Amino acid sequence: MKLDSPLLNCENHYPALVVGGGIVGAGIFRDLSIHGIPTLLVEKKDFSSQTSQSSSKMLHGGIRYLENLDFALVWEALHEKNLWLKLAPHLCKEKAFYMPVYKDALRPLWMVRCGLMLYDFLSSYQNSPYQVLGKEESLKKLNHLRSEGLTGSGIYYDAIVDDAKLTLEVIYDGLIEKNSQALNHVSLESVEKKDNIYKCHLKDTLSGDMRVITTDNLIFATGPFTDHLMKKLDIVKWENKLLPSKGSHLWISKKSLNIDHPVVLTPKDGRVIFVIPQNEKVLVGTTEVQPEEDFFDVKASHLEIDYLIHNLNEYFPGAKVSKSSILSTFSGIRPLVKDESGDKGKTAREHKLYQPRSNMYLMLGGKYTTFRVMASDVAREICSKYRIPYNSNKTKSPLRQTSAVLPFDSSTLTRENVMLALEFEKVRTFEDLISRRLGIPHKDHWNHQLSYSEFFTPMIKEMSHFISVPKEI
Ligand SMILES: Cc1cc2nc3c(=O)[nH]c(=O)nc-3n(C[C@H](O)[C@H](O)[C@H](O)COP(=O)(O)OP(=O)(O)OC[C@H]3O[C@@H](n4cnc5c(N)ncnc54)[C@H](O)[C@@H]3O)c2cc1C
Repeated sequence: MKLDSPLLNCENHYPALVVGGGIVGAGIFRDLSIHGIPTLLVEKKDFSSQTSQSSSKMLHGGIRYLENLDFALVWEALHEKNLWLKLAPHLCKEKAFYMPVYKDALRPLWMVRCGLMLYDFLSSYQNSPYQVLGKEESLKKLNHLRSEGLTGSGIYYDAIVDDAKLTLEVIYDGLIEKNSQALNHVSLESVEKKDNIYKCHLKDTLSGDMRVITTDNLIFATGPFTDHLMKKLDIVKWENKLLPSKGSHLWISKKSLNIDHPVVLTPKDGRVIFVIPQNEKVLVGTTEVQPEEDFFDVKASHLEIDYLIHNLNEYFPGAKVSKSSILSTFSGIRPLVKDESGDKGKTAREHKLYQPRSNMYLMLGGKYTTFRVMASDVAREICSKYRIPYNSNKTKSPLRQTSAVLPFDSSTLTRENVMLALEFEKVRTFEDLISRRLGIPHKDHWNHQLSYSEFFTPMIKEMSHFISVPKEI
């Protein structure tokens, strides 16, 4: 059955068009829609299928940015984290993060204690209070941890998040407002400006349909893809603004590393590796390398995998983690904005808004955690043009459409909820459904009383009313 392209059903003109359906584009779309500005969001792949599903899946203040004295950034991110814990408690959970400290560490235990005190202070004491444990208590709490040289551990509180789902629900929330529309698998191919209006040539990448849609305000939230896209579109004189940096993660089976709490490893190379248990699996990451390939759908290299496994074995020698413990891997490109010195280590996670042409906006940098603030910087500018009073409190209300299948509640993975996701959650391919609406990055993650094919095969006919289903499931 041929399915109609949603591109054919939208309006010819929108006051605002947002390019990029990661968390930043989603936030801008929601904010403008809530302020009554009809907005079109277009995303070349599926919503949240690039950087915004490849993060370390934490809403956090960024404890390590304290070393760079980035207090304003840490304050802002901690307040956003604590806000989202209230607004989307089904997608974000507070967790105690353990930071083991060894005799030869770059940061001794007294320094860690000072950092944690400052971290709680910067959260306006909304964080659950930090603690410092001695060696024996730390070993009791953290299975398999190397005891030799251990002096103790610091504990602080941050949040884990389903990054793909939060992005999706932010988009669904914007869609509740009348006259806004969000299209996945629709790419901006070229742009012309005529009489103060942008003519945008859009392509449905699944059906091949093309359409021209006009807008008064063109907003780019294309993250790490921005420099390449600006060169391709050639509508402004653009110097590269980004210092892209690739980071990879592993999902390993909890059978090989049975820990109960998130742990922060601080290897001697000065990097930080998070090890975060979630149900029956453990997230491990990340790396920091120069990206070589095309930035879309990047993959972890052997070197990155070896680096993460090596560090796990250094810290948890009793666990014997190996490549066979890996369930799947994922990678993304950090959209860091260049620091004047060009040093990646110093490049902060601050965001910047560029306006290279009238009524054209590019939002770059930042972190997942601070997306609402990034969005409000754009929405405030556009609202002022339409003389709409901007009120950032409007985006501080809970999300109104919850996903059918929830990340931290495996009981919601039912056939009925899969059908609800297909009907109401903008699914266009089987991969959209499996990876992001159901949160299954790979078949090896499947954990249900029915096998993968026993679960999906009886639904093939119903599913094919919404998407084309692969011949073999
Ligand atoms: C390894 C790693 C770990 C991280 N961990 C954390 C963390 O734990 N916490 C945190 O707060 N932050 C974290 N971050 C940062 C965070 O993930 C990013 O800042 C954020 O996801 C960027 O979102 P974005 O919307 O700007 O980019 P993206 O999510 O990449 O969205 C941009 C979108 O633009 C689309 N696009 C490109 N070209 C076109 C076109 N022509 N037409 C239409 N669409 C187009 C792309 O397909 C893409 O989906 C991490 C980043 C990385 C890489």
